Amino acid sequence: MNLILLGPPGAGKGTQAETLSAKHGLVQLSTGAMLRAAVKAGTEVGLKAKSIMEKGGLVSDDIVVRIIKDRIAEPDCQGGFILDGFPRTLPQAAALEKMLKSSKKKLDFVIELKVDDKALIERISGRFSCAKCGAGYHDTFKQTKVAGVCDSCGNKEFIRRADDNVETVQNRLLAYYKETSPLIGYYFAKGLLDSVDGMGAIDQVGGSIEKVLAKLD
Ligand code: ADP
Ligand code: AMP
Repeated sequence: MNLILLGPPGAGKGTQAETLSAKHGLVQLSTGAMLRAAVKAGTEVGLKAKSIMEKGGLVSDDIVVRIIKDRIAEPDCQGGFILDGFPRTLPQAAALEKMLKSSKKKLDFVIELKVDDKALIERISGRFSCAKCGAGYHDTFKQTKVAGVCDSCGNKEFIRRADDNVETVQNRLLAYYKETSPLIGYYFAKGLLDSVDGMGAIDQVGGSIEKVLAKLD
């Protein structure tokens, strides 16, 4: 099964992808996480992406398409994957379609998470993650079970994203509405879109997604 989680920054794509990948044995492909790793490693891609990400803009289609194309071709992705944060523009969606076609793969679902802007800001402002395994948390909505200890790997160090600040969030939302939201119509027209209410609690949203996926059984 191959699917896309679509939605604005902070909608819960990464959180739901984490659960879905564990439950269904799918590989989570987050272009944001891949780009942050490239920035940290100081690669050529990282150097190009750094200042754009800090401002909340979109990295060029060429760069992200190349990253995803290489990653999807790897053996672990052959059993299915969840795209989290890609595609973000119509050209990226067209490139994805082309690469899937040439490797005889297809998309099974595009799931849109619908969340109000006010809730997005609240979610992004309290977001943090494990510095070792990347598991995601929230100050209010998803705390660690034991204070200061990662539920997944037991690590005690956490990080907050440099771009999770009020000024950058405005730019990221703008980029979403301008460049990414047209993908909702694009995938609706292809008969692939399912929209889910993303305003509920994390488990509730997960339940709604599972109902959509059950259509495949
Ligand atoms: P995205 O990947 O779409 O940018 P995340 O999955 O990182 O969003 O979620 C943003 C923040 O909101 C995280 O701190 C996460 O724990 C929290 N979160 C995710 N889903 C919900 C939800 N349904 N209700 C409340 N908080 C949520
Ligand atoms: P995310 O982790 O999905 O919130 O992405 C963080 C940042 O990485 C975004 O604000 C963009 O600057 C960049 N990015 C991630 N995915 C893409 C993409 N598919 N296209 C362009 N830029 C991206």
